[in-house]
Amino acid sequence: MTWRPWRQAFLAAGTAVVGFDPSTRTWVTDAARSQGMDDLPPLKGRVVTDPASRGEAADDFGHLVHRTPGAVLEPGDVSDIMLMMKYCRTHGVQVAARGQGHATFGQGQVAGGLIVDMSPLNAVEVRGDTAVVEAGALWSGLAQATLARGLTPPVFTDYLELSVGGTLAVGGIGGQTHHHGAQVDGVVELEVVTGDAALRRCSARLRPDLFRAVLAGRGQCGIIAKATVRLLPAPAKVRHYLLSYPSVAALTADQRRVVDDGRFAYVEGELGLPTDSAGWTHQLEAVAFFDGPTPPDDATLLGGLSDEPGKRQINDMSYFEFLNRLATGVAYLKSTGEWYRPHPWWNMFLPASRTDAFVEAAIKDLTETEVGASGVVLLYPFPRARLQLPLLRLPDEETVFLFTLLRTASAGAESPQAMVEANRSLYLRARAVGGYQYPVGSIPTTPEEWRTHYGPAWAAFKTARERFDPDAILTPGQGIFPPDP
Ligand SMILES: Cc1cc2nc3c(=O)[nH]c(=O)nc-3n(C[C@H](O)[C@H](O)[C@H](O)COP(=O)(O)OP(=O)(O)OC[C@H]3O[C@@H](n4cnc5c(N)ncnc54)[C@H](O)[C@@H]3O)c2cc1C
Repeated sequence: MTWRPWRQAFLAAGTAVVGFDPSTRTWVTDAARSQGMDDLPPLKGRVVTDPASRGEAADDFGHLVHRTPGAVLEPGDVSDIMLMMKYCRTHGVQVAARGQGHATFGQGQVAGGLIVDMSPLNAVEVRGDTAVVEAGALWSGLAQATLARGLTPPVFTDYLELSVGGTLAVGGIGGQTHHHGAQVDGVVELEVVTGDAALRRCSARLRPDLFRAVLAGRGQCGIIAKATVRLLPAPAKVRHYLLSYPSVAALTADQRRVVDDGRFAYVEGELGLPTDSAGWTHQLEAVAFFDGPTPPDDATLLGGLSDEPGKRQINDMSYFEFLNRLATGVAYLKSTGEWYRPHPWWNMFLPASRTDAFVEAAIKDLTETEVGASGVVLLYPFPRARLQLPLLRLPDEETVFLFTLLRTASAGAESPQAMVEANRSLYLRARAVGGYQYPVGSIPTTPEEWRTHYGPAWAAFKTARERFDPDAILTPGQGIFPPDP
């Protein structure tokens, strides 16, 4: 394992943890070692309390919620997570895993508790048509390792620098979902450190209760240590289409058409904010895979579609260039500082029958000050039946749309607090038409509302939580299971 140099400096200054003092509820460091307090189990990695590590773990991509943990575990291997889970259980310390910290509303934070930094556990092994991947690995790393063997996971998120454990904890939706479900639907087996400090394997056949409570289970029953994910043959190239439409209804009609007939490998869509010279834009983004020199036949693929003539953009690129398409834009946003501004994101699934009217009303008076200069509005459908896991809650219709307002509190935009309030009221409106939250955004939600959200899945979720995290120490930042009064 490599240690970041600045961390070494703090460790040299004596911030390596040797124990937890239950009387003061603080972690005891080398520098402040007191007799009898050096009872931390022997670890291959280490636990640190330096301000930089704790500060990083007290923040996320949203920059809206800040809860400072007492300490951060940098595990040497999975046994460290088990040992520390047991230790924290004994001392009543709360624990949460941190992948890449790209949650937007404190979902992975824990005040005074222990954050498990999953990034050191990032090995990938390709075995036949599966990959066995440690949960701290990034989707970019998994893609590269599998593409070297001519294989690929079926579904990717738009941005590849998210951890495998982090997206499996929520679901993992992308433009390939209409064919293959969410990323959680491609998981064959998991290794999980449950809240009772046991390492358990689970799959659809082996301990299905745990399997179904961990995938999209938001870290409530265990920390995913390893996942075995299904792979498919990877294409060499893609042909990428951007098609323009005059209205939301025209866009969604063609999106539904191509999703129903499955002609493209990938389908998403984006609504572009009005400018001084033009109103909202509505674009369908689609991709067809190909190998060899002959590209897909445009006439066949675009047949019967009613996009605006003369506005088609068609480009060929390698499969990895396509997967990694956000990298250039992200580098630009980082260079301007925009990437590091607060991100009060709103992400919901809508029933297809209510989507057009809801989206039209939601964007009618929406301005750049409400979504920010780099804000993104996404809209795309998939068939509900492709998603099989009970905790990824979806509207009760055959076709479902993901609708997102990816807001950035840019300079000159509304305040982050105003954006969060707007998220809350739009959430209530979406719920009223049968919408379900995709829980990666920044929407204040009460435990009672989460209970309603899980509906028929709630009883099994709660039972699994009580069984696998009997002391209720895991992942409080999700706000699902309130602490006992
Ligand atoms: C730029 C960007 C683009 C995105 N694009 C998409 C997209 O296209 N599709 C999509 O579906 N989502 C997308 N997301 C949302 C993203 O999938 C989630 O926010 C995801 O949880 C972030 O992964 P992470 O590694 O940063 O997790 P973190 O933010 O570190 O953690 C998120 C939650 O998962 C828990 N967790 C993390 N690791 C584990 C583990 N090993 N075991 C159990 N629980 C764990 C944490 O405790 C926390 O509660 C995007 C987010 C960003 C910022």
